[in-house]
Amino acid sequence: MSGPIGATVLGYPRIGPRRELKKALEAYWKGASSVGDLEQVAADLRARTYRELAGLDSQPTGTFSYYDHVLDVTAMLDAVPPRFRPDGRREGTALDEYFAMARGTTTAAPLEMTKWFDTNYHYLVPEIGPDTTIRLADTTPVERVREAAAAGVAAPRPALVGPVTYLLLAKAADGSPEGFSPLARLDDVVEVYAQLLAELADAGAAWVQLDESAFVADRSDEELAALRRAYDRLAGTPDRPRILVPFSYGDPGPALDALAESPVDGVALDLVTAPQLADRVAGLPALRQKTVVAGLVDGRNVWRADLGGALARAATLLGSVGDLAVSSSCSLLHVPYDVTVEEKLEPAVVARLAFARQKLDEVVALGRALRSGEHGVDADAAGSAAVAVDEAVRARVASVEPADRTRPDYPVRAKAQRERLGLPPLPTTTIGSFPQTADVRRARADWANGRIDDAEYTRRMRSEIERVVRLQEAIGLDVLVHGEPERNDMVQYFADNLPGFATTALGWVQSYGSRCVRPPILHGDVSRPQPITVEWARYAQSLSPQPVKGMLTGPVTILAWSFVRDDQPLAQTADQVALALRDEIADLEAAGIGIVQVDEAALRELLPPRRADRGAYLDWAVGSFRLATGGAAEETQVHTHLCYSEFGDVIDAIDGLDADVTTIEAARSRMEVLADLEAVGYSRGVGPGVYDIHSPRVPERGEIAALIAEAQRVVPDDRLWVNPDCGLKTRGYEEVELTLRAMVEAARAAR
Ligand code: GLN
Ligand code: ZN
Repeated sequence: MSGPIGATVLGYPRIGPRRELKKALEAYWKGASSVGDLEQVAADLRARTYRELAGLDSQPTGTFSYYDHVLDVTAMLDAVPPRFRPDGRREGTALDEYFAMARGTTTAAPLEMTKWFDTNYHYLVPEIGPDTTIRLADTTPVERVREAAAAGVAAPRPALVGPVTYLLLAKAADGSPEGFSPLARLDDVVEVYAQLLAELADAGAAWVQLDESAFVADRSDEELAALRRAYDRLAGTPDRPRILVPFSYGDPGPALDALAESPVDGVALDLVTAPQLADRVAGLPALRQKTVVAGLVDGRNVWRADLGGALARAATLLGSVGDLAVSSSCSLLHVPYDVTVEEKLEPAVVARLAFARQKLDEVVALGRALRSGEHGVDADAAGSAAVAVDEAVRARVASVEPADRTRPDYPVRAKAQRERLGLPPLPTTTIGSFPQTADVRRARADWANGRIDDAEYTRRMRSEIERVVRLQEAIGLDVLVHGEPERNDMVQYFADNLPGFATTALGWVQSYGSRCVRPPILHGDVSRPQPITVEWARYAQSLSPQPVKGMLTGPVTILAWSFVRDDQPLAQTADQVALALRDEIADLEAAGIGIVQVDEAALRELLPPRRADRGAYLDWAVGSFRLATGGAAEETQVHTHLCYSEFGDVIDAIDGLDADVTTIEAARSRMEVLADLEAVGYSRGVGPGVYDIHSPRVPERGEIAALIAEAQRVVPDDRLWVNPDCGLKTRGYEEVELTLRAMVEAARAAR
């Protein structure tokens, strides 16, 4: 019964084409619906997915999750941190406990959330210690195989996070001995998987899919040895399904050799992210006995595949592998469901797009062509609609010179800015957004739906801006902001205003749990025919003698949170966006704005998993920021803002941005980042956050004063800024006002 895998995908969206799961979850959490209602929605979504995937030769099951597929394994292993079981046993149902780990309770903080590789999906970090329970507590994967079989799925292939990746993504539980690594629990976890494999085989699964994508990052010999040991053991399970190990999002490097030599039955490779793997396969004779699943359809971007090219690549593998299957490069979790429901997208753009459903057709077409041995696909299916070219933009990018990315030396700038701005030491500011009230949201919605005209919209936004400016003056902040009331989202706002981008109506993608995002689609050459933010900034500045910061989102962050065209290098696309921002900065300067902040919240997010690839990425990322800001006059103060405090591999890059002031998150990490920055010779302005905006808590003035004092020990007063960790958009006015007042008082006292 273990037939070939054939045409398949590694996973499918699960939030529902109309975000049915999101709505059902939120209703359940609010107490507005029963668990039965929630389970029914979930079952319907799974049934629908079984049908939708029916055209494939085999399909993954168990890719549905109530919240997160890593949390599913935590629940399966019963690896529940003790804070969720204060009395030593589960409170409420298994599902309640599952949601408690995801969302926290009044007494227990939720599991930490972090990015799933270099995607925009977030998983819940397992907490594994020497004493964490590890046993097969839940056999949902087995039930799902039975459910799929009953629904007529011919070859259900349960898909789970593999045991080694699970532990590599985990962190040591609180109270673990110094140096403890979750990988120390590998044998226990593998035993549970072995038990599960036996049950899966019993339920009729011919294959099981155990994702080991953690190996597309640099891994130690010990970790590689753990991989080998785990799969030797699993493969030794009597009466087990065949084992397929996918490596998505990059190149597994030596892990591929390790598994080729191991008794596993197949590997799935991401040939979209790592096309060089096709050559490696030919050099691994052991793969001639195995199934190789060629991930040729991009699972995390929205462009139609070049089926002719994909087929040619697949054909080169034919002689080197035992059985060749074709698939998406990773789970389709990262793309929206269906492009055909997008009625407002331009046909020329739609012609280039493939969402999850369309990608199913692509793998089926590839599979069919491979089987027929024709090695040709319909020209029509190759989707070769042209990109709308803007010659002026291309010419401008081509003529960029290194000098365009360079500002005068910092001491020269610092002097000019000091003279112009006349700020006190330890100047106080905020990161940009102020709380978004119901009125503000309503004004935006009314305007978008045509219920109010431009004049009325402008009036409402201006009145909000005025309120926010007056509030900041009353609090006594030194550098003001306009508060960003006109922005729903820091990337979408620019995408809506720049030719070259499109936005979807229903292109939702799960970010975490019930939270979805609708990334803009960067499909063509990007230009900026007219100013975007200037009138709001000008208005805000007209209200106050204090400097008002212009507020822009940087090129890397715009790319990171969009689906980006893949027909040209990202560096080139980033430079197009940078030039648009450069023009915006020039217009802000002309409008009398003396400080411009260019947010690069996502600079670290696109960092490639392997160190060797990072230099090339950071070169273009930093280069595009410098191109955006490189035209600013020496007396214009350029700020940047970064949304995290663990700089690790980007610390030199942050220095390389050459911003006059860098504001960063620091309140929770006790200012450690400052020492890191100073260590690489960063010698410009820095604003470590002294107000943790992730919590509604109002800190005492003393706490803020302590953080400032700590920062003062590392950074001289003339370079130190005082500000919150991030934007205030998700907070309430009352707490914000109290905290900002305390912050300003603490800064004044520290001067
Ligand atoms: N300027 C943005 C804001 O304040 C920055 C947001 C962010 O860094 N995520 O909302
Ligand atoms: Zn931020």
